[in-house]
Amino acid sequence: MHTKIVATLGPASSNYETMRAMVEYGVRIFRLNFSHANAAAFDPIVKDIRRLESHLGLPLTVMGDLCGPKVRIGEVAGSPLSVRKDQRLALGLPDERDEAGDLPFVNLDMPELLQGLSVGMPVSLSDGMLQFDVVEVREANKLFVIQSRNSGVLTSKKGIAFPGKFHPLPALTAKDRRDLHEGMDIGLDAVAMSFVQTIADIRDIRQEMAAHGRSIPVVAKIERQNAVDNLESILSLTDAVMVARGDLGLECPLSAVPVIQKRIIRACRHAQKAVIVATQMLLSMVNNPLPTRAEAADVANAMLDGADCVMLSEETAMGSYPVESVKFMSEIAKNAEPYYIERMKGPFAPKLEKNPAKYLAYAACLLAQNAESEGLVVHTESGTTARFLSSRRPEQIIHALTPDPQVVRHLNFFWGVEPRQVGTTLESHVQRAEKYIHDSPQFTPGKSAIILAGQLTPGQVEPHTTNELKVYYK
Ligand code: PGA
Ligand code: MN
Repeated sequence: MHTKIVATLGPASSNYETMRAMVEYGVRIFRLNFSHANAAAFDPIVKDIRRLESHLGLPLTVMGDLCGPKVRIGEVAGSPLSVRKDQRLALGLPDERDEAGDLPFVNLDMPELLQGLSVGMPVSLSDGMLQFDVVEVREANKLFVIQSRNSGVLTSKKGIAFPGKFHPLPALTAKDRRDLHEGMDIGLDAVAMSFVQTIADIRDIRQEMAAHGRSIPVVAKIERQNAVDNLESILSLTDAVMVARGDLGLECPLSAVPVIQKRIIRACRHAQKAVIVATQMLLSMVNNPLPTRAEAADVANAMLDGADCVMLSEETAMGSYPVESVKFMSEIAKNAEPYYIERMKGPFAPKLEKNPAKYLAYAACLLAQNAESEGLVVHTESGTTARFLSSRRPEQIIHALTPDPQVVRHLNFFWGVEPRQVGTTLESHVQRAEKYIHDSPQFTPGKSAIILAGQLTPGQVEPHTTNELKVYYK
């Protein structure tokens, strides 16, 4: 399977046997959601994942997902409150309650968010189930009247969003900083950052990691309109991206989300950054052993869009069918991937640019296709060459060999890449690749494999890139 499955762990799945079954059906990345527990609670789970990893001989990546500044309203008097279409409510800072008069009062204790709110701006409540427009500013930056576009139920402490409005909330909260440090101490391999808005957020988390003396890959969750607008600059500094459709669907018109997903995936492939499609992929499998037609189509379409990873959230964290959900995704992949590869009719060509390493990777993919090779084997120290290969979406599995265990777990995010750690006893990178092919039952004697490697010529100094391409017959 070329697509990687990310499974969120929770009460339904945080046990060794369930995790093992999920890995057997294609999970390579486990997501620990810091909105629901802390590092102390996750510590034994990470240890189980390491045990599983050595038991199965497969590298597994542990991704911590930081909560970020998820914004929630306070207590609503009379909650649950039914709201009629066209009904007016007051929205304001807690101190403004008395000024609201007879209108039901929704309080939001975050002055930064109410700053600059004006008539005509949309407000979404109850995780998007209720949509409002601001119809009156009672007191600038403090108290507003909002009118409902639809009927629904409003309860206390629900999420609120101001679609499209910029607010200066940094993505990394004090709690996130603590979770990040503690998470790195229990051995997280990657960290997902919620509600990223600009490149400054990614810079911030990188600095926080540097201060802690270690650095792990960052997954920028694209769930705000600003992040969509700033994608190119975010991509220049992040390691991976998540199309976080849950919150994104509140921030942007839901009808725009499918195309935003396609645009993000395409941009990520061009930037050689991995992309995860997340949220509600097989949601009905929380309660049912089979998904809906629409969900099956959604998973297949994410694969056909070229996503590196597809993610399960509640399905594996708290659903009744965690293993079945993963199995279903892998069955969809069995159908979708051959179609995707067939439709491409060969690897994607890179953009026209001076970049010999990228073109060498493309050449390797063309050669693998023409020589009907059984696989691509790349020796990579930083992982870059494996990422170049993956972004061309070759039919053959990319066996990425690296001496660095951190690179191994980073490469788990990438489409078609099977990362493996190799020793350093053999000096030559090409020899390491040849030995790997020789020892691996995935390669048949007499058949070819394509080796891609790069090594400093003695006496040469950095920077160097991949410079060797070989057709190797086992
Ligand atoms: P969450 O992120 O599950 O942490 O909210 C994913 C999303 O918003 O889709
Ligand atoms: Mn979210």
